[in-house]
Amino acid sequence: MHAEAIPWYWRALDFEELAREFPPPPDYFRTTFRVSRDELRTLQERRFLETMRRGWEIPFFQRHWRAAGMEPGDIRGLDDLQKIPPYDVHHIRASIERNPPFGDFMGISPADGKRMPLVLQTSGGTTGLPRPMLYAPRDRETMAIMGGRRFALHGIRPGDMVLVTYALGLSNGAAAPREALWRYSGAVPVMTGGGATTPTRRQIEIAQAWGISVILGFPSYLRHMALTARDEMGIDPKSLGIRLIGTHLGMEDRRRIEDLWGAPCFDAYGTHESGMMAAECERQSGMHVQEDAYILEIADPESGRILAEGEQGTVYITTLYKYGAPQIRFNVNDISAYVPGICACGGTLRRLARIFGRSDNMVKLRGVNVFPEAVGAVVAGDRRTNGEFFCFVDRVGEAATDEMTVMVEVIDPAADRAAVKTDLERRMKEVLGVRVTVNPAAKGGLDQYTGTSQTSKIKRLLDRRKCS
Ligand SMILES: [Zn+2]
Repeated sequence: MHAEAIPWYWRALDFEELAREFPPPPDYFRTTFRVSRDELRTLQERRFLETMRRGWEIPFFQRHWRAAGMEPGDIRGLDDLQKIPPYDVHHIRASIERNPPFGDFMGISPADGKRMPLVLQTSGGTTGLPRPMLYAPRDRETMAIMGGRRFALHGIRPGDMVLVTYALGLSNGAAAPREALWRYSGAVPVMTGGGATTPTRRQIEIAQAWGISVILGFPSYLRHMALTARDEMGIDPKSLGIRLIGTHLGMEDRRRIEDLWGAPCFDAYGTHESGMMAAECERQSGMHVQEDAYILEIADPESGRILAEGEQGTVYITTLYKYGAPQIRFNVNDISAYVPGICACGGTLRRLARIFGRSDNMVKLRGVNVFPEAVGAVVAGDRRTNGEFFCFVDRVGEAATDEMTVMVEVIDPAADRAAVKTDLERRMKEVLGVRVTVNPAAKGGLDQYTGTSQTSKIKRLLDRRKCS
């Protein structure tokens, strides 16, 4: 075998060095998860300065930073972090337009495949071409470790059979958890994908026949699965023996999913570019941030000022492990907050509260900020519905008033639709602080808008003020 001939994956990595730097479970629980804050800060400083050096090698950052008057060497440590100008998806899109098809925000290109194995995955874009991202071997392997930590935090153990209902395809949705599960959690991934890949009834049959103990998926599909089993197949989802569920709750009602499945449900937070940044432990009281690999700041969406613990703002991501495409103060536009205090589990890593919404998804309705996610939380709390919803925003009448109409699916055959409408309209007014109209529809009536039975990339809002 010629040593230099073929870039075998295993030759591209020093696995033992990687495991020392980013301990996977179970070592993780003895090391990083309980690291002292001082030790963590020292580690973060070293990795942050390495990331800055790498950033200066990448044209996108050179341009973005120089435009703000920065020079190499200006940033001497984490104390200077807030001097770095943030950027967001619009900057990334501009970088791709300027330098198609991959942009100049990555420090690697497909040609680097001659010296190291690369893999491409994308964002789960819903319009136009999805945004591509290339992963270098060490970056990808570190992401798998982060995913493995997520699953171990939830309580997934070697030997668990895990049904993965995230969409299979170009996006990282299912690919990343597959790598994380089989390499770093000891559990067996069973890659069914969404309802379009494996019909939901078949997924239930598989869960029953193969001894599935864990399900991963988005809340709307988890509800859809449970209701399909219960109402169409006559199978109580609780009888399937699911031990736990991993999901991305956002503003969804955790209790509703737990009651349907008879299993605890754990929240996690990640993106396709960054990997799995935070995950809930068994205490379910906020998502522990993988602080040896990420610095997450919470900033005021308007001024960019960094907010105190407990205050809600937009998340800025700085990665501390990426070589191929580091992120340095990337404004991801998700709204969250830090949970004050220390977790009862004994872990020292700080916790992120749920994701309250996306700041670019926010609708201004007669002066009030409304997140579709908050609408969903109200709908999911009404057991006469299946939690499905879709919002239309229109500008109506001569006065051009902004109105939101929320459609919901009623599944309880005994329910009085007029009463569902009145109750939900009152509850929404209390929660959102603004009046909206609720229109009940039959079960499955919203699928044409949301795509719940087919895809894991659910749509929840159509702002028709922008169409006219
Ligand atoms: Zn904890």
